Amino acid sequence: MSALEVDTARLPLLLHELRLPAIGRLWPDWTARADQEGWPAARLLSTLAELEVAERARRRVERHLVEARLPPDKTLDNFDFTAVPMLSKARVMALAAGDSWLEKGANLLLFGPPGSGKSHAAAALGRALVENGHRVLFTRTTDLVQRLQAARQALQLEAALAKLDKYDLLILDDLSYVGKDQAETSVLFELISARYERRSLLITANQPFGEWGRIFPDPAMTVAAIDRLVHHATIFEMNVESYRRRAALGRKGKALRQAPDPLPEAQPS
Ligand code: ADP
Ligand code: MG
Repeated sequence: MSALEVDTARLPLLLHELRLPAIGRLWPDWTARADQEGWPAARLLSTLAELEVAERARRRVERHLVEARLPPDKTLDNFDFTAVPMLSKARVMALAAGDSWLEKGANLLLFGPPGSGKSHAAAALGRALVENGHRVLFTRTTDLVQRLQAARQALQLEAALAKLDKYDLLILDDLSYVGKDQAETSVLFELISARYERRSLLITANQPFGEWGRIFPDPAMTVAAIDRLVHHATIFEMNVESYRRRAALGRKGKALRQAPDPLPEAQPS
């Protein structure tokens, strides 16, 4: 055994013990290169440290992507902004950078008829935010309401809401699908209040506000919920025809302009 082999015999074990897997994997190549190119020792040390930190960040993003439960394949890259002129690409890109609105716990509301791209835009934005180091959870609103109601019945609502605090952004897809029976105990209102000015919500809905009376037990609570949501919010009304339908028409070679359906009217807000 050479002197070097004796010196490094315990290194894999030590790096494992210190939980430095990237250095554990990469040190043989990098030390060989450093020896060959005559690097100063400090340069090698700092290179290895950088590699470990970079890999740690990458693993964290991977974990956060799994926990975010985003629908697959919905990205900002494959979102066609020209199809939704009222959704400014520049503003969405600024939101995807994250920091300032998430720090304030500001909200984002996406309204539009079915197929207008709300879920895609929400998921794509969520994915970009995770990639930029934030924590996100994407959920159908009805699923989350169900979970929170179960928690309330077990007298665990506060704990369940506190657990959601770890997410910088909670994406509630399809708020307008919350059923009357689900609305009764108003966990949704508790959630909105709990996150108000602290943690961000991204809500998608077919109906802007007009129909929200159905979602909350009484008009006062509806007003209070909307008030909190819009206090610090960006609102996009995506009043375009279904992208699926347009894509189907496009495939048949019919220009959309030749056979437009009347666009659904926006509800008064
Ligand atoms: P919504 O949630 O508003 O009902 P979706 O986001 O589910 O609509 O969009 C319906 C389908 O059309 C999805 O497959 C989505 O990826 C696609 N889609 C919608 N808008 C766009 C767009 N602007 N660019 C690319 N794909 C889109
Ligand atoms: Mg949707």
